[in-house]
Amino acid sequence: MFSKFKPTWMFNNIYAITPEFLKANKITTILTDLDNTLIPWDTKKSTHQLKNWLTVMHNNGIQVIVISNNSFNRVNSAIASLNVPFISRALKPLNFGIKRAIKNYNLNPNQVIMVGDQLMTDILASNNSGVKSILVKPLVASDAWNTKPNRMIEHAIWKQLYKKYPDLKWR
Ligand SMILES: [Mg+2]
Repeated sequence: MFSKFKPTWMFNNIYAITPEFLKANKITTILTDLDNTLIPWDTKKSTHQLKNWLTVMHNNGIQVIVISNNSFNRVNSAIASLNVPFISRALKPLNFGIKRAIKNYNLNPNQVIMVGDQLMTDILASNNSGVKSILVKPLVASDAWNTKPNRMIEHAIWKQLYKKYPDLKWR
């Protein structure tokens, strides 16, 4: 059962994800979580670093779509200046948001990757949708109130994951 929580890869942050890596793995589209993956959960501000990363992806033909469990208003106001399409209230770990993106944007699931900071939502949703995944470390150590219980369960899941997959490594 713990294989459902296993990320395909683990990176320290989104900036470690390069077009070269994606192309080598035949990935054309990044579906990404918002809170604590692109932007800290408690701010609306994006950084120059994030804008640059999005520009590099765009210039390399990599599509980026935000898939967030948060509300339309939160997602819309956080990424308004970034010109990135999004799906809000995605109900991760259920597969609805990812499936909707695959259908709406006519994507090949084999060429899609889901990026996020939570095993229990982002990574479980990717495995439930049959797409590859990258787990990143959360941008800030704190979490929204509704994420805190997930982190406690995550802790227990990690123990099992490391036992079962001793080669899991952060890049
Ligand atoms: Mg998150």
